[in-house]
This record gives sequence, structure tokens and C-alpha cells, in this order.
Amino acid sequence: MASKVALAGSTGSIGNQAIDVVHGAPDRFEVVALAAGSDVSRLAAQARDLRPSLVVIGDASLAGELAEQVPRGTEVMSGTEGLEALARSADVVLNAIVGFAGLPVTLAALVAGRRLALANKESLIAAAPLVSSVRNAAGGEIVPVDSEHCAIHQCLRACRESEVARLVITASGGPFRELSQDELAHVGLGDALAHPTWDMGPKITVDSSTLMNKGLEVIEAHELFGLPYDRIEVVVHPQSIVHSMVEMTDGSTIAQLSRPDMRLPIGYALGYPERLCSSYGALDWSTALSLDFEPPDRERFACLRLAEEAGRAGGSAPAWLSAANEEAVAAFLSARIPWSAISQVVAAALEDWDQAVISSVGDVVEADRRARESARRTAMRLEHAA
Ligand code: NDP
Ligand code: MG
Repeated sequence: MASKVALAGSTGSIGNQAIDVVHGAPDRFEVVALAAGSDVSRLAAQARDLRPSLVVIGDASLAGELAEQVPRGTEVMSGTEGLEALARSADVVLNAIVGFAGLPVTLAALVAGRRLALANKESLIAAAPLVSSVRNAAGGEIVPVDSEHCAIHQCLRACRESEVARLVITASGGPFRELSQDELAHVGLGDALAHPTWDMGPKITVDSSTLMNKGLEVIEAHELFGLPYDRIEVVVHPQSIVHSMVEMTDGSTIAQLSRPDMRLPIGYALGYPERLCSSYGALDWSTALSLDFEPPDRERFACLRLAEEAGRAGGSAPAWLSAANEEAVAAFLSARIPWSAISQVVAAALEDWDQAVISSVGDVVEADRRARESARRTAMRLEHAA
């Protein structure tokens, strides 16, 4: 029987690729709900194609416009209430919303005991203490879509927990891997958006250029797999073929390899525990292939270091880091601050961090709000100083 699937963030990069995966395995998946932020026309076109029973639009003022464009009988909802309804509506819930806005889907899916196919790392990072308390609800589980964590998830199937020595997360290094500190001071928006190996939404593409994405992924790995930070390593691997590795206590390392194609981890998470028959990203061993590895540079890419420090600090520090980064990236994407100021905005927010703990959704929302306030202040100061 086909599993019922809900796609949150269906109009984005991951969302569109998920629809491709669903079309490739029509006997495995039935889409019952879709959600987007504000792109009414694309969301409505997806609804006409996939015929879900529920569509959700983040921006409530657009619900009326959406209702006019979806097939008769499709329920239209909006905002947090809509996202929570979407999360309860399916067996498998893909969270591919970008940023903190994805929080209601993560929490509601786990509370309802659904399988959460998680691309939205920001919600896990901001609300880790809450996620860990709800993820053990009967039936609830997280299967990571992020390619590195999906790779680790696959490698861990080959060993016992007690046999794991370290997780090794690979990083492409982004478009600025070979630039000097001086050159980094002059990179522009177009340069940051030109990722060498992955085609992704703008926020994560900028995060990949600063290595903040890798820093967020270190925290994500700590939360998903429960290993302490000194057993999670980052290695730069420019080809993006080895998606991550697990080192065993006897020195053996198990890796997952494929061409960079997000449809593979998306299909893995939607179909788990059974693999799909559609092949995405299989390697061609009849042509030459080189795999390079080098350590990351935490001086040139301060965001990686800041994220690791926030992860180790715990409490609401990761929430502050992630929120400040979202504000800094938004300021960079709208050409208000230079690329090199992103890490300065985040560093200043972590200086302002109030050391609060997180024990309720209200605490997460408050941490997010305060961190954004701090980040906006610094961004404005840097903007006026430029
Ligand atoms: P995109 O920017 O391409 O897409 C974001 C999606 O989120 C869009 O569908 C957008 O809708 C939706 N959205 C934004 N705000 C809201 C809201 N308030 N309510 C409902 N939906 C909303 O991002 P990506 O697909 O690149 O990334 C999505 C997530 O997956 C991120 O957390 C990212 O870190 C993670 N990820 C992405 C990878 C990739 O290859 N792209 C790889 C690994 C992880 P609209 O179109 O209407 O704005
Ligand atoms: Mg990743």
C-alpha cells in the first residue's frame, strides 16, 4: 500500500525534488498535503497535479487567492495551525521549509508519532531539547534528508552503537574554499550563490559558502545521533561524492558514496526502511574518479568555529546562532552587508547570548526573537559603517 506523504516546503529546491521522487514511485507514495510560504501559483499548480486533500500557505493573507486556484474540495489552511494539521495528516512528513519557520512541522509531526523526513535542520538546532523529549512518541522517528546525516544513518545500519568511534562529516568547502582572507573580503552575492557541486535554495547556498551550513550540520549530527562534539569531525571533500562516514572502534571507516543528487536522500527518508527502486546518483566506475580530503580552515571560515562553540555551549546558544545567521544571511542576500560581515553578526549575537535554557516552545520563540534583535542591531551598525 502507498504511504501517505505530506510535503512542507513543496515549492522549494528540496520540495520540487521530492515531487520528482514521488512521480518516480507512484505505487509507493500518495501525496496528501502540501505547504509553501507565499508562492501561490506554484503551490496551486502542484495541488492540481498531485490532488492532495490539504494545502497550506504560510502567509495567511494569501489563503483566499490560493483557494480560488486549487481543485474543488481541497482544504486550504494557513500559518502555524495549517502546518500542524499538515504534520498530522500523513504517515511520512517531509519538512523542507527553510529556516525557523519549519519549527511547527518538526514538533507536530513527532508529537503525532509520524515519521519525520527532516531537511529543515534549523528547527532541530533551535529546539533540540524539545525535539529530544517528543521524538520518542510512539511511532515518531526522524530520518534525515540532509545528505551527510542520511549518509551517517545508512552507515550506522552496518554496526552496533558500541562499535562507533567517530562521525566524519564531509563538506564540499563551498565556492570560496581556495580564497585567501583578503580575497574573501571582496566576494559578492553572485559568487556566494554559485555553489560548485549542489543546486540549492539561496539561504543554504550562502550557508555553504561561509561553512555555517557545516557548523549547523555538526550540531544536527550531535542531536540526531547523540555523540559528543569531540567525536564529530569535519573534513573538506570538494567532489561531494563521499557524503559522510562512520569510523569504528577497530579503525575501520564506513562511507556512503553517490553523485551529488538530493533525490537519493529524499527517497531514502520517504521510503525508509525500504529502499526505492529508482536509482539517483549512482556512480559510473568506468570513468576516472578522484576523491580529495583536507581539514577545514576555521580561521578563514569563522562560522564553522562559532557553530561548534554554540553547540558545545548548549542551552539556547544553538537557537541564537541559527537565528542570528538567518538575519545575517537575509541582510547579505539583500546587499545590506558584505559576505565577511555574516560571521561578525553571528559572533556579536553569541556575545549577547543570555545563557537561557530551553524548556518550552515559548523559550525557543523568545531565544529566536532576542537573537534576531541582536543580529539586526549589528547588521545595521555594519551597514552604516560600510
Ligand atoms: P528553498 O528556499 O528552495 O525552499 C524553501 C521552501 O520553504 C519553499 O517551499 C518556501 O515556500 C517554504 N517556506 C518558507 N517559509 C515558509 C513558511 N512560513 N511556511 C511554509 N513554507 C515556507 O530551500 P531549500 O529547499 O534549499 O531548503 C529547505 C530546507 O532543507 C532548509 O532547511 C535547508 O537547510 C535544507 N536542506 C536543503 C538542501 C538542498 O539541497 N536544497 C540540502 C540539505 C538540506 P515559497 O516558495 O512559497 O517561499
Ligand atoms: Mg548537508
